[in-house]
Amino acid sequence: MTVGVLAVQGDVREHLRVLERLGVAARPVRRPEELAGLAGIVLPGGESTAMWRLMRATGLAGALRNAILAGLLAFGTCAGMILLARRVTNWPETFLGVLDIAVERNVIGRQVDSFEAQVAANGLGELPAVFLRAPGVREIGPGVRALGRLGDQPVLVEQGSLLAASFHPELTGDTRVHEMFIQMCRKGESWQHA
Ligand code: GLN
Repeated sequence: MTVGVLAVQGDVREHLRVLERLGVAARPVRRPEELAGLAGIVLPGGESTAMWRLMRATGLAGALRNAILAGLLAFGTCAGMILLARRVTNWPETFLGVLDIAVERNVIGRQVDSFEAQVAANGLGELPAVFLRAPGVREIGPGVRALGRLGDQPVLVEQGSLLAASFHPELTGDTRVHEMFIQMCRKGESWQHA
């Protein structure tokens, strides 16, 4: 099983490292044809607008959207969550628009002064979380489950084949959220090959 990491901008290396540490074959994805054969893809943190501009230029934006709609599992962190969201309340564009949540950009934590907190996650207990100009989840659709909360705000959500965190699980050394995604990918794989 191979998991890709969207590699146009952002903290790509950190995600590749966590996946490798967990014994999963991982590779960067820069071009549409590199989506072939993946069990899942991680969309890292970074700058969603910059990533989108670069993805549009290479055709990766449309190809990734189609792949996700066709069942490719995706895990977005921070900017990656914004890319997945159906609506961005304080930005005129929608990016991939596949995850039924509305997010507001740049509301939790500052760039220099990241905000660290414990997130209460279903079945996982408390998770350490780092927020860097992170999106706030403002609406969640009926098919979306909030798996983790900061106070009463959802910060980890799941909708079928999609997982998204407004924080950065790749920066804490706690690999449980990545493990959750890997499990989703393994299930997806066995299902496809059944
Ligand atoms: N502020 C960034 C954006 O709007 C997200 C920040 C991050 O990924 N750390 O895309």
